Amino acid sequence: MADTAEILRLEKLQVHYPVQGRLSDHIMGRSIGAVKAVDGIDLTVGRGEIVALVGESGSGKTTVGRVITKLAQPTAGRLLFEEKDMTSVRGISTLRPYRRRVQMIFQDAYQALNPRHTIFDIVAEPLRSLGIANEFGQLAERVNEALAAAGLSPPVDFVNRFPHELSGGQRQRVVIAGALAVKPDLIVADEPVSMLDVSIRAQILQVLVDLRNQRNMALLFITHDLPLAWLIADRIAVLYLGKLVEIGSVDDITFNPKHPYTIALRDATPQIKRDAHRIDVPTVQGEVPSAARVPNGCRFHPRCPLAFDRCRVEEPGAVAVSAQHFSACWLT
Ligand code: SF4
Repeated sequence: MADTAEILRLEKLQVHYPVQGRLSDHIMGRSIGAVKAVDGIDLTVGRGEIVALVGESGSGKTTVGRVITKLAQPTAGRLLFEEKDMTSVRGISTLRPYRRRVQMIFQDAYQALNPRHTIFDIVAEPLRSLGIANEFGQLAERVNEALAAAGLSPPVDFVNRFPHELSGGQRQRVVIAGALAVKPDLIVADEPVSMLDVSIRAQILQVLVDLRNQRNMALLFITHDLPLAWLIADRIAVLYLGKLVEIGSVDDITFNPKHPYTIALRDATPQIKRDAHRIDVPTVQGEVPSAARVPNGCRFHPRCPLAFDRCRVEEPGAVAVSAQHFSACWLT
């Protein structure tokens, strides 16, 4: 990492969705509770840094990505980009400079690409809508550059094709090219390889790492897959039911995890062993509690094999294991 100055900061970020039981609640604007999708997380991303946000389905990681890219509004807390408070900034014209700097790569390339548009038009669309380039020569130069950077070479072979004429890996590269075309400083990549074959995954991850190395671009890599996070990230943040339960360097989280949930995630990674016909994988027991009815005390308590009385009534804060490693567990 050439320059690790902070580019993004989330402070006590909350996204709560009201629960309205009856039609009358909708009409009167009443709520009978809240789904705490994200509940007070603090996170920083440095320039040129890759931070992986790891968690199960429903942990709130996509919601965090949507808040950062201004596709969702937080209920409380602050979103700072280069120390500027972006929390309340709204409106297409006021958000335009921010969207030039922060882009999102969506998980599902099938959904993200308009089937009626050519690859050229898809990659050129953010350049047009953000007012970066309108003249055909400029557009062609930026589109070709983005396609080549995303590994679609030579670009001339792709620009006139439609999404259905490409493979899954090529479609995902087009999604990446669309994000790269505006030359952002931060990309939020939401499960960018989860729908791809294993053989293609490594190529896409390499594209993202190369981009960080060449452009000093920061990346928030959202995934449910701890080994993938280990492969690509500098730091890993583990999210459980809307709370950050552990954050640290890749080595801290992989080889010295402190939170029982992180330990369970790590231990649940299947290991292929020579001469073994079956894989014995320890698993986290039970279901994730509902985000609308979070338990008192530690949220992991209903699934934690170590839980004791204090955990039931008192929520653990972040305990420092080392300067960069924090775990939210009384037993840290
Ligand atoms: Fe388990 Fe208690 Fe630690 Fe929560 S605080 S992870 S319930 S030991």
